[in-house]
Amino acid sequence: MLDRPHPTPEAPTLDQADLAKRMSGFHFIGGRYVPAKSGKTFAVVNPATGEEVARAAEGDAADVDAAVQDAARAQKEWARMPARKRGALVHKCAAVIREHVEELARLIALETGKALRTESRVEANTVADILEFFGGLGSELKGESVPFDPKVLSVTIREPLGVVGAIIPWNVPMLLMALKVAPALVAGNTVVVKSAEEAPLAVMRICELMNRVLPAGCFNILSGFGPECGAPLVEHPKVRKVTFTGSVPVGRIVAKAAGEKLIPVTLELGGKSPMIVFADCDFEKTVAGALTSMRFTRQGQSCTAASRIYVERPIFDRFVEAMATRVDAMVMGDPLDEKTDIGTIISTDQFEKVRGFIEEGKATAGATGRACSAMPKDQALRKGLFIQPHIFTGLGQDSRLVQEEIFGPVTCIFPFDDAEEVLAEANDSEYGLAASLWTNNLKVGLDLAHRLEAGLVQINQNLVVQANLSYGGVKSSGLGKEASLEAMLEHFTHKKTIMVNMA
Ligand code: ADP
Ligand code: MG
Repeated sequence: MLDRPHPTPEAPTLDQADLAKRMSGFHFIGGRYVPAKSGKTFAVVNPATGEEVARAAEGDAADVDAAVQDAARAQKEWARMPARKRGALVHKCAAVIREHVEELARLIALETGKALRTESRVEANTVADILEFFGGLGSELKGESVPFDPKVLSVTIREPLGVVGAIIPWNVPMLLMALKVAPALVAGNTVVVKSAEEAPLAVMRICELMNRVLPAGCFNILSGFGPECGAPLVEHPKVRKVTFTGSVPVGRIVAKAAGEKLIPVTLELGGKSPMIVFADCDFEKTVAGALTSMRFTRQGQSCTAASRIYVERPIFDRFVEAMATRVDAMVMGDPLDEKTDIGTIISTDQFEKVRGFIEEGKATAGATGRACSAMPKDQALRKGLFIQPHIFTGLGQDSRLVQEEIFGPVTCIFPFDDAEEVLAEANDSEYGLAASLWTNNLKVGLDLAHRLEAGLVQINQNLVVQANLSYGGVKSSGLGKEASLEAMLEHFTHKKTIMVNMA
């Protein structure tokens, strides 16, 4: 249970601006809101207005050490609790999150610019879903008996790894944090999270809410920048496992540091996911599927965004037209307005990066970039980081827009004539996270599903990550899986062998 008083209200609040201010300047360590030891803070900005909504504590190695020491102390007792009871507590956290869904949705919309109805509320509900799923898996932390010798009882047991360091990005921070924290806790580890500098608030409120149920020190969160706060977390001697979601270059840095310490690491590093559409598909369903696959409601800021769409030539023109018409009908505007489908880009850095890709695409000979969906007219949003969704045709496979992860509302569409040709193009990528196939010919679909280089292939749908289904990429998209029972067992426990000589 939490000590009171806290800077934050106990009951759910719908005043996200006030909540953001009250959380200003704090990490959450050992069951309490605590300021950064240096006293330093940095701005949290609402990307829809450009206004500063809070100051986040700027963590460094001293804060990391305090959090990890607390987590290490708490871990001893937490690991001794029966696994099923740990699960029950994590499940109970889900109930507290459910009571605060509306609050968390408004808070994440405020700091990230993600639309309330289409994204933020969905994400908050998914957090509860993930906690419920893993909360039920406590009794699945089983070992085996090994047939060694009838007179020697030989068994394996699953043990936690210790303190887990988790580093998360800003695009779906609440969901991605839950995918790491829930299985880590149920397996008997304790956790220190380093939030993304662009989105530190909603995840910290979740940490506070879960600390109303969990023993102090089991779940801690720090805000701060990558090199100053993330790196010392990875390097801390008492951190025995690192789980990271972010970019490929930072993934390599994290993996190197973990390698130096000889600790296991899980990496989820983005993608350039192909969507392959055959002429025999269910046309309307597939066009609608292209919009959700491209995650336009999240401004395309998704690792699994269908940023390369290959359409069989006979339906190519009709498909591009139908898709553009549908995207045009989407409403871009105030993230907190229920009518809004599409919100803003997260930060000015990302805004410039995405705009650079769009300019480059437009300047490419033979290419056409079609801007869809009207810009918002509201004066209050004139400084907002809005970018119109763009659909490019006529680009070559070697274009930077086709090879690099844009992480914005930009997709490239190509015609194809032949299944082998499109498979080669789809696999011609550094990434291998997800792919989707749209056809009523399951023979072709299943054949390609087997040969696509991706961690997840979906036929006639393209859902975001789901609890119970292993999620994680191949090639530069990462290392290891998340979201499933196997992921919990493989990535948050080790197997110990125990032998008893009974002769
Ligand atoms: P993005 O491009 O989405 O910002 P990053 O890989 O830059 O992805 O960031 C993902 C997370 O990794 C963020 O929480 C960021 O602060 C953190 N990070 C950045 N650099 C480092 C680093 N050198 N060591 C550890 N964490 C880092
Ligand atoms: Mg970054």
